Amino acid sequence: MSTSLPPTIVMKFGGTSVADAARIKRAARRIVAQREAGKRVVAVLSARGKTTDELIKMAEEVSPTPDPREMDMLLSTGERISCALCAMAINDLQHRAISLTGSQAGIVTDTSHTKARIIDVRAERIRQALNDDQIVLVAGFQGVSTSRDVTTLGRGGSDTTAVALAAAIGAEVCEIYTDVAGVFSADPRLVPDARKLPLVSFEEMLEMAASGAKVLQLRSVEYARTHGVRIHCRSSFEDRPGTVVIGEDETMEHPLITAVTHSTEEARITLLGVPDRPGAAAAIFNALAEANCNVDTIIQNEPLGEGRDAEVSFTIASEDLRAAEAALAPVAAELRIARIDTDPEIGKVSIVGAGMRSHPGVAAKVFDVLAEQQINIEMISTSPIKISCVIRADMVEDAVRALHQAFELGAAGIERERPIGQEAR
Ligand code: ASP
Ligand code: MG
Repeated sequence: MSTSLPPTIVMKFGGTSVADAARIKRAARRIVAQREAGKRVVAVLSARGKTTDELIKMAEEVSPTPDPREMDMLLSTGERISCALCAMAINDLQHRAISLTGSQAGIVTDTSHTKARIIDVRAERIRQALNDDQIVLVAGFQGVSTSRDVTTLGRGGSDTTAVALAAAIGAEVCEIYTDVAGVFSADPRLVPDARKLPLVSFEEMLEMAASGAKVLQLRSVEYARTHGVRIHCRSSFEDRPGTVVIGEDETMEHPLITAVTHSTEEARITLLGVPDRPGAAAAIFNALAEANCNVDTIIQNEPLGEGRDAEVSFTIASEDLRAAEAALAPVAAELRIARIDTDPEIGKVSIVGAGMRSHPGVAAKVFDVLAEQQINIEMISTSPIKISCVIRADMVEDAVRALHQAFELGAAGIERERPIGQEAR
C-alpha cells in the first residue's frame, strides 16, 4: 500500500438500497460525499430490488432446467443496470464516474456457473480510473471465468465482490450498505428487542452467516478473514455506525452468546439402508461435492449388529435439493442404498458466541429452552462457538424468540438486572 495516495474505500449497496430512482440518487450522493471528503471510492452495486428473483423466474418460464452458462449471462445483467444508472446520477452531481462489469473490473473466477469462486482480481483498470480521479462503479455478483465466460458468484455474491476488491486495492474499509442498521442479536423482524451488535469477530460472523444470518454472504466473510479486510455493515438510510467485523484478537468483548440465527431454507436428505463398510460415506459425499452441494449437519448411526445397514442423514440448502437428488441417484444404485427420503420442511435454529468455548452448560440450556416450548429437536450439530438444532420449519420463529429471551440477548436484557430466582425463561 502506498502512503502518498489518499485512502481508498469500497462502498457496497445492496438491492433495496438501489431499488428505485430516488434510492439510486441517494446512493450516488453518499458515494460523492465520501469522494468530497477526500477518499478514492470504488462502489459495488447489487441488482435493484427483486431483479435477480425476477430474472430467475424469467428463465424458469422458458426452461425447466436453464443452462447454467446462459443463466449467468442473464443474471449478471441486473447489477450492470444498477451501475450504469448510478454512474449517470453521479455524473449529474458534477463528479466523474465509470461503471464496469465484473469482467471489466478484472474479477476472475473458476468455471462453476451460478456459484463461481473468485480466484484472482486484476485491478489495473480500477487503479487507473482511480488515479484518473474517477469514481469506479463495479457490477457486483459476477466475474469472468478462466474460460472467458461470464459467471455469477451465488446469491448474495455482491458482498464477496466488494470484499475481494477491497483486498485487491488495499482499501481501508469495505462498507456494506444495506436496509438494516447492522448485524443484530437476532432477526429484528422476529425479535423486536434484538440488539444491534457494534462489533462481531470474524469467527462469530462466519458461524452466523453459515447458519442463516443474511446480512453478509458467507464467502465474503471467509474472504475478508483470509485477506484481513475490515467490514463495516451499516444502513444506507441513516448515518449512524453499524457493525464492524474484526479479528478476535482485536476485540476485548467475549460475550457468552452473541446471537441467535435461523434458517428455513434448508432441506434434509436421509439415506436408508446404507451398506456399513469403508468408502460408503466417501462415495455419497464426493458425489455431492462434485455437484457443488454444500452439506451441513451430517448424522450417521452405527448399525447395531453384524451385517446391518446404516442410516445417513444430512441437511443442505433447499435450492440444492434437486441437484443433490440427481447426484445421489447413481451412487444409490451402485451402493444398493435401499431408500432416499427428502424432507423440505425442516428449519434450523442456532446460537453463536465466542464465549461458549470455555463455558459448560450452554447446550443443556438450549435444549431446556426448546423443551419448554414443546419443540422437538431432530438433529444437533455443534462447533466450539455454535450450537445448531434442526427442528420443524414452523417452530423456528418460536424457538428464536425463546432462545433470545432465555440468553438475555435483547436490549432490555442488558439494561435490566433480573432479581435472583426470576430469570427469563
Ligand atoms: N443480486 C444478487 C442476489 O440477489 C447478488 C447480490 O445482491 O448480492 O443474490
Ligand atoms: Mg445481500
